[in-house]
Amino acid sequence: MKKSIVVIEDESDILEVLKYNLEREGYRVKTCRDGESGLRVVRETNPDLVLLDLMLPSVDGIEVCRRLREDAVTRSLPVIMLTAKGEESDIVLGLGVGADDYIIKPFSTSELTARIRAVLRRTQQSTEESGRDRIERGGLVIDIARHQVTADGERVSFTATELRLLHFLASHPDRVFTRDLLLGRAIGEHAYVGDRNIDVHIRAIRKKLGPYRELIETIRGVGYRFLEESS
Ligand code: CA
Repeated sequence: MKKSIVVIEDESDILEVLKYNLEREGYRVKTCRDGESGLRVVRETNPDLVLLDLMLPSVDGIEVCRRLREDAVTRSLPVIMLTAKGEESDIVLGLGVGADDYIIKPFSTSELTARIRAVLRRTQQSTEESGRDRIERGGLVIDIARHQVTADGERVSFTATELRLLHFLASHPDRVFTRDLLLGRAIGEHAYVGDRNIDVHIRAIRKKLGPYRELIETIRGVGYRFLEESS
């Protein structure tokens, strides 16, 4: 399967060139022009890597990276910063908030793709070695490090918010959580307005879980819990 990359860059000329060249190299590419929509697209699409310009309108690249690292779902998502020459202090800042690598503009396509391949290889290795953050319940496997859920071996695709919610519930089996608590702890302060309805997410998650839907139990008037054993 093609690897997917989200490119966040406000200069449209650079954005077009990046998209064209990366697609030619066999990547699926989504583009965004500011930090806020970049974060949203990353949450919606769970890409394999993010190319992140540091100088962005509204939410800048450093802040985008910081927010990605604060979130369990995107914590290990590879991020390569794009920086202008002479912005060394920004590079230090970016690496400090957890970016994996950086590349200085202007750069050649071959330089960029070599860097992307290296970062993807490195993060793949560390993911395989870690193996934690993986929860199994019967034939259901929730692997937050790989942003992946499988039911009886079949991959099920979740949005970042759904995945975070499912992982949070499954990490605390048999514990009942209120909607407010789930909102605060599972979805977090970075919830967008559309993310705030827990019931809608739970409904979507159950539908996708198919035969495992009953693992999430509704506690009437209180909230939800994830069962220790499937019945
Ligand atoms: Ca810029």
